[in-house]
Amino acid sequence: MSTNNDINSLKDENEKNKLKVHCTFCPSEMLNIGAARLVNIQFNLPYVHCKGEDEGDQQESITDYWLVDDIYTFENIGVSHTVDNVKYLACADCERGPVGWHDLSTKKSYIALSRVKHE
Ligand SMILES: [Zn+2]
Repeated sequence: MSTNNDINSLKDENEKNKLKVHCTFCPSEMLNIGAARLVNIQFNLPYVHCKGEDEGDQQESITDYWLVDDIYTFENIGVSHTVDNVKYLACADCERGPVGWHDLSTKKSYIALSRVKHE
């Protein structure tokens, strides 16, 4: 979805996020500037749904993520549901998601660039 040009404008020379990361549906701030690092990793993320809606089993293959080493780095983040070793992350305020996932074995979190707003 994003082109390389888009991504280049979102990261600094150290691959850190140059802009704050927000929920796309509400003003909730997820990450401060420089809190995450861009990584290229393929992960299938279920499509965005509201809490309580039928999730179905449709997934989107996403490869551009903000890596957050420590979940306490987030300004705000919510957890939607856990599947195996993965906790899906959602907006802490409006609960829309998933916007990414948290790996329970490595304790690292990944936020999909295409699921959040940068400003
Ligand atoms: Zn929100």
